[in-house]
Amino acid sequence: MVECNDINCFTHGNVKTRGAVLEGTVVSDKGKKTVVVERHFAKYISKYERLERRNSKIAAHNPECIKAKLHDSVRMAECRRISKTKAWVIVEVLKRAEGV
Ligand SMILES: [Zn+2]
Repeated sequence: MVECNDINCFTHGNVKTRGAVLEGTVVSDKGKKTVVVERHFAKYISKYERLERRNSKIAAHNPECIKAKLHDSVRMAECRRISKTKAWVIVEVLKRAEGV
C-alpha cells in the first residue's frame, strides 16, 4: 500500500464523496494532484428525436494512493469543492493505460 498523507483523499483524508459517480478518461495529468477527465456521452434531443454527442472535461483530484496517469480509465465521485475548479475526486482506476 502506498502511504497517503493527502487530506483531500476520500479514504485517508477528510473528503467525503456524495452525489454523482462518473467514468471517463484522463486527458491531462500535468497538475500535481489534479487530473482532467474527459467524458463522452450522448444526450437525447426530443425535438429532433435523435442523440447528440457531447463531451465534457472535469478537473478531478488525484490522491496519492490512486495515482491516475494520462489515458487511464477512471471512476470519479462528486464531493465538496476542493479548489476553485475541483469538486470531484478519483475513486478508482478502471483500466491503466497500456504501453506509453
Ligand atoms: Zn489516500
